[in-house]
Amino acid sequence: MQHILDKALRQGRSVTGLGEVASYIPELSKADKNHVGVCVMDSVGGCFEAGDVEERFTIQSISKVVSLAVALELYGMEAVFGQIGMEPSGDAFNSIVKLAGDASRPYNPMVNSGAIAVASFIAPELTFDEMLERTREMCGDPDIVLNEAVYHSEMATTSRNRAISYLLESKGVLRCGVDEALELYIKMCSLNVTARSLAYLGLLLANGGIRLQDGKQLLQPETVRVVKSIMHTCGMYDGSGEFAVRVGVPTKSGVGGGLLSVVNKRMGIGIFGPSLDKKGNSIAGEKILQFLSAQMKLHVFD
Ligand code: GLN
Repeated sequence: MQHILDKALRQGRSVTGLGEVASYIPELSKADKNHVGVCVMDSVGGCFEAGDVEERFTIQSISKVVSLAVALELYGMEAVFGQIGMEPSGDAFNSIVKLAGDASRPYNPMVNSGAIAVASFIAPELTFDEMLERTREMCGDPDIVLNEAVYHSEMATTSRNRAISYLLESKGVLRCGVDEALELYIKMCSLNVTARSLAYLGLLLANGGIRLQDGKQLLQPETVRVVKSIMHTCGMYDGSGEFAVRVGVPTKSGVGGGLLSVVNKRMGIGIFGPSLDKKGNSIAGEKILQFLSAQMKLHVFD
């Protein structure tokens, strides 16, 4: 395993020059695009790592997985999906097109519109500190904190998410005010994680919501099943279809360079690689997952 991972890391490193770090959130442009790290945690307690696995970066859109899980635990599937769709949008993560047209609700919880709606479900019930605590628990990482610099940088430049939020409000989708929903959404995106924290979360999902270390059920099996399905169909935005065919491992990306992957019943994989492709997915991360999937037969249909 360690040998495969070292090889995967080399493959990942070889493509970092082909992408760019995100810059539409100014603070993110400070990332070093050569960083690459991968961590695999398996269902028998093994943990394998290569590269920059201790580097902290903001979780960004991968927080959509945490928030969806929490919303499902709070309200159940029918209530959440009564307001938010389950279909891949085929559009960019921050697209406003369908919402500005006649769509009455967001396409799915993995695009910004859907995740802001999810945040508006949570905000009346849980504070940001409570969400932070849940994130730490789900990631097995007590050191996760809010990255204030990234949070303020995004808050100051988030006109597009604000526009999306007002459209959601106009369509009666939000369950709290625009400012409240946006604040929770962007704070959740600004949590500092590592590839290791993501691998831990991946393993929790792979393991049906049961924490391997002590057998505690942290998430209900139904929640985890829904979350993994949505990751598989919508987790890589408008690259989700191709990724599902080529790699076949339910994965969620974030513009901080993170990837969270779940190999059902077998392992969680966390990757950090801030050099992104045009769709906002980690370019090294995709390469690494393609390699690991082929080498270890991880595709859901293998
Ligand atoms: N916070 C980011 C945004 O709203 C998250 C996007 C992403 O990771 N794709 O634009």
